[in-house]
Amino acid sequence: MNVSDSELVESLLKKEGYESINDPDNADVLFVNTCSIREHAEDKVHSLLGRYNLLKKNKPSMIIGVLGCMAQSLKHDILENRPYVDIVLGPDSYRKLPELLNRHEVNKKSQVDTQLSKYEVYDDLFPSRKEGINAWITIMRGCDKFCSFCIVPFTRGRERSRSIDGIVSEVENAVKDGFSEVTLLGQNVNSYNYDGNKFPVLLESLAQVTGLKRLRYTSPHPKDITIGLLDIMNRYDNICNSIHLPLQSGSDRILKRMNRTYTSDHFVNIARSIREILPNAGISTDIIVGFPGESDKDFVETMSVMEEVNFDSAFTFKYSPRKGTKAAEYEDQISEEVKQNRLEQIILLQKSHTILRNQSYIGKIENVLIEKQSKRNSGKWAGRTESNKWVIFDKEHANIKDIVPVLIMKSRDITLHGKIINKAKAA
Ligand code: SAM
Ligand code: SF4
Repeated sequence: MNVSDSELVESLLKKEGYESINDPDNADVLFVNTCSIREHAEDKVHSLLGRYNLLKKNKPSMIIGVLGCMAQSLKHDILENRPYVDIVLGPDSYRKLPELLNRHEVNKKSQVDTQLSKYEVYDDLFPSRKEGINAWITIMRGCDKFCSFCIVPFTRGRERSRSIDGIVSEVENAVKDGFSEVTLLGQNVNSYNYDGNKFPVLLESLAQVTGLKRLRYTSPHPKDITIGLLDIMNRYDNICNSIHLPLQSGSDRILKRMNRTYTSDHFVNIARSIREILPNAGISTDIIVGFPGESDKDFVETMSVMEEVNFDSAFTFKYSPRKGTKAAEYEDQISEEVKQNRLEQIILLQKSHTILRNQSYIGKIENVLIEKQSKRNSGKWAGRTESNKWVIFDKEHANIKDIVPVLIMKSRDITLHGKIINKAKAA
């Protein structure tokens, strides 16, 4: 989401005559687009800002800006403790950036705009994208779910969706610009609702865009996955059979405390439906360990759901208290030691599942979109299957952006290895 937002900001600044460079030492203006989701993300921004302050000491005319979620949640802290930050801009205020830069020229005081909007979706602004395989396209912003651990509803405001027409024309432009794949983005991408048109309607319209080879989306909320959505995914070859389905916890007691609005049974049933309707689908997840009050029994229940679903991959996190959220106020916080221990256990468990899932591909033929040269061997390509697994294989006569049938021959760590087979054999 931040990559996508940065592309929006870049396009706004280009209209004002700015050019982007990849070299902070020589920049006139430096923006840090920030994330508040966990303390670790914020720590990274603090250390980056410290480094940029040193650059500014050598070049006092340099303008430093903090954009995005931390601007929203830590505005006062930044203004008080980091006087060298010139601009603080929340995620709904990017349009104001040129105005704030102009104001800063006249008045050297810090310029701030962190107003959240019920309507801003930047529908008319096309992001400035680098050439590549995948184009990120934001289709909705904000979140109304208020999970008790999560800062997003506070930093990104209320849920709102872009028009179908606006999204279709952005996808058409991305295809014209040579992108093979589009990934739709939203904090809760499948809560999309524009004038009563829900996510499956949008997905179907986009699958019909001529020339679009692959369509993905992230992150959906399990509560909003419907059989209708899975049927649409099944109907269109260019919608990738890959779903990121964040579990968070396998304990019903903890799910309730998290305000996740589903039970572990409901979650397992969705995963079953996905595997029934889309048999080759890759399912990935997010899991939080050490949520306040999580007992050993609750934790074992999370591991049981992992065993039951057999995720292809997982992003695993230690619970990080976020100021202003309900869970940060709970008194039964879990010690760092227990969190760390549980994290290590689920990382190991997930690794064993990833290996098993990957081994099940051996002997199968997968359509792979070639994305780049393998880092380790210049004679090989690296590409992804529909289910989002990396495959390495000899280049032969194929080119970047081709989709080729690859026979999977072995699985090593998290990567598959195979060879291109000719189409007649594949048929
Ligand atoms: N909207 C998505 C959903 O409902 O599942 C998730 C989006 S959130 C930006 C990405 C992930 O960050 C979450 O799925 C959760 O696992 C993790 N996360 C959010 N808040 C967290 C916190 N306070 N501590 C640890 N992990 C957190
Ligand atoms: Fe955060 Fe996702 Fe819950 Fe929204 S649904 S509050 S983004 S975890």
